[in-house]
Amino acid sequence: MRRATTHRHEDPLTRETPQDPPVTSAPASWSDAPSRDALQLIAEGVTQLAGFGVAAISAVREDGKMEVMAVAGSDAARVQLQGRRTPVDRLTGELEKADDWGLLRFVPHERLDPSAGEDWGWVPDIDPIDTADAWHPLDMLVAPLYDDDGALRGSLAIDLPVDGRRPGRGQRAVLNQYAEQARRAVLVALERERLAEQVRMADAARRIVRTATAQLSLDRIVADSREAVVEGFRAAGMWLQTFDRDDHGGARGEIYSSDGSHVHLTPELITIAEGAARLAWERQQVSVVAPDREFGPTITPEQGEVVLAFLREIGVESLLFTPLGAGPECLGNLVLTRAAGAPEWTEAEATAALDIGHDLGRAILNARIFEREHELVEELQELDAYKGQLIATVAHELKNPLTSVMGHLEMLESSPDLSGTTRTSLNAMDRGARRMVRVIDDLLLLSKVGDPDDTVIAAPVDLARIVDDVVDLTMVAAKQKQLDVTVTLPDEPAYALGDHDELDRVAANLVSNAVKYTRAEGAVRIGVERVGNDVLLTVADEGIGISQDDLLRLGTEFFRSSNPEAVAQPGTGLGLAIVRRIVDRHGGQIEIESELGRGSTFRVWLPAADTGS
Ligand code: ADP
Repeated sequence: MRRATTHRHEDPLTRETPQDPPVTSAPASWSDAPSRDALQLIAEGVTQLAGFGVAAISAVREDGKMEVMAVAGSDAARVQLQGRRTPVDRLTGELEKADDWGLLRFVPHERLDPSAGEDWGWVPDIDPIDTADAWHPLDMLVAPLYDDDGALRGSLAIDLPVDGRRPGRGQRAVLNQYAEQARRAVLVALERERLAEQVRMADAARRIVRTATAQLSLDRIVADSREAVVEGFRAAGMWLQTFDRDDHGGARGEIYSSDGSHVHLTPELITIAEGAARLAWERQQVSVVAPDREFGPTITPEQGEVVLAFLREIGVESLLFTPLGAGPECLGNLVLTRAAGAPEWTEAEATAALDIGHDLGRAILNARIFEREHELVEELQELDAYKGQLIATVAHELKNPLTSVMGHLEMLESSPDLSGTTRTSLNAMDRGARRMVRVIDDLLLLSKVGDPDDTVIAAPVDLARIVDDVVDLTMVAAKQKQLDVTVTLPDEPAYALGDHDELDRVAANLVSNAVKYTRAEGAVRIGVERVGNDVLLTVADEGIGISQDDLLRLGTEFFRSSNPEAVAQPGTGLGLAIVRRIVDRHGGQIEIESELGRGSTFRVWLPAADTGS
């Protein structure tokens, strides 16, 4: 008589000895619905058509555990068993005691260890019927499912025959057919799962490479993505070779190996790889090099043999060869290797690898452009430093003889017996020499304030006082032009933090320009005020103004406006360049507003000396 199954029942395949750790129960991780449905149908066939109360199909998972994937028949059994995991050797141990029923194995309860008894878990709560071939609750009937290489990949476990008897010859034949179906279904399901997993991992690798390629150094990109790529492709290693842009047979690119160790490729291998990569990029395909495989269109059989010999030498069985490129240009190749016994490279992996080839190709291009820009900037900086040095040296060299010339001029001018023409000439020479001194002084100052090694020795400097002095000095010129000069200074000192002489030059240059470039009877407004943590110097005029084009170039050394009214005034084009550099090195800011014909406003913000108060 069969009673309700109130005890814990355990499928033969999940039975445990008492001393073993408890069976772990995890949710079935089989994500592939068609595979799951196929297994369920086979299990239901066993219960509905072959006359059994419970059928369970399990598969061997990556961690070496058997996982119950489909259970049919008893709901209670399904609740208990679905998703259970047990070590594979639990089943193989039991099988040693089994009778061979074709694909099925039968272990009569008599052969089971009696001490295990009820502790084994969920045993169908039935009384055996009273015949010699009665099914006993502890009888075990299971079909181990092997792949073509003889590896155990799953099992079909059967329990509770409806007629209460151990299956006879006819029933066994039917069950064997189900076992074969279950075998094929489990193998297909495992293969599908393996492929899905590969796609998932290759996809993950691809995403990581894409993120890594945001960086501009190829070294960093490879360092950040190689682990993910090697893992994602289940590769033994990887290396990456980039080709030189203008390859004249010299250096042939760089090789990055996955573990940081150097991969020694012979020149012959590098040439083969480069040729193959270019062809592969043209065709947009990856290729596999492995023993007993056609080499494909990108390398000749002879080249293939050379590559295979190299692979044998480094203990690698196969490789996936991916070209790297951007647009029409092939820029390198990526090689992923697998050791013997690893799975074959799949289509999904090939597609993912080609995608990575595109991402890395763009990254190589970006890295090159970046490197080139970097080099250019360095070259320009060197050139700039050289120019600065040249100016300083020339200025120094001119200054000494000029000082001597001026000394002699002074002596000559003071002699009493000079004719009128000689005196006129001497005066002209004196004016010229003084102008040269001004230019040379400006050049020396320009090179000083542009020298990054020459830092400002900052101290509180009263900008109001400086402006006052500067205005005094320019008053003569302003008066000559009858300018209306307004100066607005604060009652309190306005301390900026900086070098007195340099800030004096800033104010002097701006004020003298305002006076110089304003027509007679025009207006000039000068002011100093405290604004937040800055001291603001404003020099505004209603003068000739500056065109928008000229504004863009203002402050470049030797730049003078093309405006004839401006050119008519004496000048070197160094004043604003000096101002700009001084303001920069004081951590200040300068703003220029101007309109041609209407006037200009220069505003300079300098950090205040007493920002805390
Ligand atoms: P310089 O006055 O010796 O020519 P600067 O560097 O001081 O050199 O000025 C560069 C150019 O900017 C001048 O040649 C002039 O064209 C223009 N500029 C400077 N300040 C003014 C201003 N206040 N109004 C109009 N143009 C100006």
